[in-house]
Amino acid sequence: MQMAHPKPHAVVIPYPYQGHVTPMINLSIRLASRGFTITFVQTELIHHFICKAQNLPAANFDLFAEARKSGLDIRYTTISDGFPLDFDRDLNFNEYWESMFRDFPDRVDKIVTTTMEADVLPKTPPFLLVADTFYTWPATIAKKHNMVNVSVWTEPAIVFSLNYNLELLRQNGHVPYNGNADNHINYIPGIQSFSTRDLMTYLQDPEAIPMLIKIAEKGFEQVRKADFILCNTVEELELETLSSLNQKHPTYAVGPINFYTDFTKTSIARSLWSESDCTQWLNSKPSGSVLYVSFGSIAHSNKEEIGELAHGLLISEVYFVWVLRPDIIGGKESDVLPEDFKDVVKDKGLIVPWCNQNIVLSSPATGGFLTHCGWNSILESTWFGVPMICYPSLVDQPTNRKLVVDDWKIGVDLCKGEQVRREEVASQVNILMRGESSVQMKQQIKKVSKKLHDSLGAEGSSHRNFDRFEVDLKAKFCTRSP
Ligand code: UDP
Repeated sequence: MQMAHPKPHAVVIPYPYQGHVTPMINLSIRLASRGFTITFVQTELIHHFICKAQNLPAANFDLFAEARKSGLDIRYTTISDGFPLDFDRDLNFNEYWESMFRDFPDRVDKIVTTTMEADVLPKTPPFLLVADTFYTWPATIAKKHNMVNVSVWTEPAIVFSLNYNLELLRQNGHVPYNGNADNHINYIPGIQSFSTRDLMTYLQDPEAIPMLIKIAEKGFEQVRKADFILCNTVEELELETLSSLNQKHPTYAVGPINFYTDFTKTSIARSLWSESDCTQWLNSKPSGSVLYVSFGSIAHSNKEEIGELAHGLLISEVYFVWVLRPDIIGGKESDVLPEDFKDVVKDKGLIVPWCNQNIVLSSPATGGFLTHCGWNSILESTWFGVPMICYPSLVDQPTNRKLVVDDWKIGVDLCKGEQVRREEVASQVNILMRGESSVQMKQQIKKVSKKLHDSLGAEGSSHRNFDRFEVDLKAKFCTRSP
């Protein structure tokens, strides 16, 4: 569907992490292909990461140059987060986010102002601000500039709803959980049968990293004022939760945004790290025999945990591709695996610092995914019909785990929050990848995978919801005073 002229102009601002940048790029391409002008605003840090990963000079690199050649109107610019590139944002998490609350909004405001001033001829277009829900300023800035405010939620609807109902959780003694009340949560609209142990880690233990709950609280103050919420989920998978959210705010399930574009064909760089090619190795392995192991872009580990996982993989005798980021245990220690591990493993395992996850998951050789339960990883694994061993560690991961294991039955738990043990790793690998249980799990994930694929089809719910969003957005522009 084409919009009336002049073309709406969306200023798009992703959250500066891998799992948020990728969906925002895909969403921008979708909007541009539907006739929107896009100004994509990337933090300088992420820009440098992507350039380094591609071996390209950061000074001249335009992420969307190729997309423009194919006729899409996507402009690209960068914004400073206020810190030098070599500043360790993980190590100085509090300082970084305090500054993002305090100083970043002014910089966003300037970019929005410049972008709008530059696009008034021959006629001023309707402007919209498309920003991540976790940001603490979108409603304020959109209001100031009379823009329509579209909030983009890159996690499941259930996590949105729990954040949205934080006050209710507090009133019931479940955040923080005082141990007195029943740990069963049954009063959140659209969420049935939920336990405190499935809450996001920053709600289970707000004091562990207080900045996390602060970010969520500030973001959710703003999202209440958003005009539209786009959610990277699928209606058929979270129907009740989405229905109840929709009664409060216009919420559109438009996922999986991860597969808006063909991941094998796109010319737009998304990866923050250089990708090792695993294809040849995977091609040499029997169908369904390889376990893919990755804990995403943020989660950290320690030597003991990695040691147990490594020995567990050895005991299981499974083939594996293991993504071990160089910063996986923090700092610069590179020697994280048990002594002689690589010699013992030989051709059984391929250990890489980073890879193209979708290429690995789509390989016929891949039969299981030992995952930290990041939402993108879950969507990607489900899309390719790869059952999961769930090993969540922080933020939304325990909540995502519940969907995979308890609700959709497309994965198994690993150690349920207890210290990981090698014997359990081996046993869960067996359950997931061998015998009758594995056949059942594969049949079940095929059904869920079909829901994801269908949702993006011409008659699918996400396709329909995106159309509906576009119509409602257009109506909103018409009712806006100039
Ligand atoms: N990813 C990747 N290569 C890797 C590991 C991860 O491309 O070696 C991508 C993965 O495909 C996913 C994202 O990084 O899209 C991680 O997002 P997720 O939400 O799963 O976890 P997070 O990194 O946010 O914890």
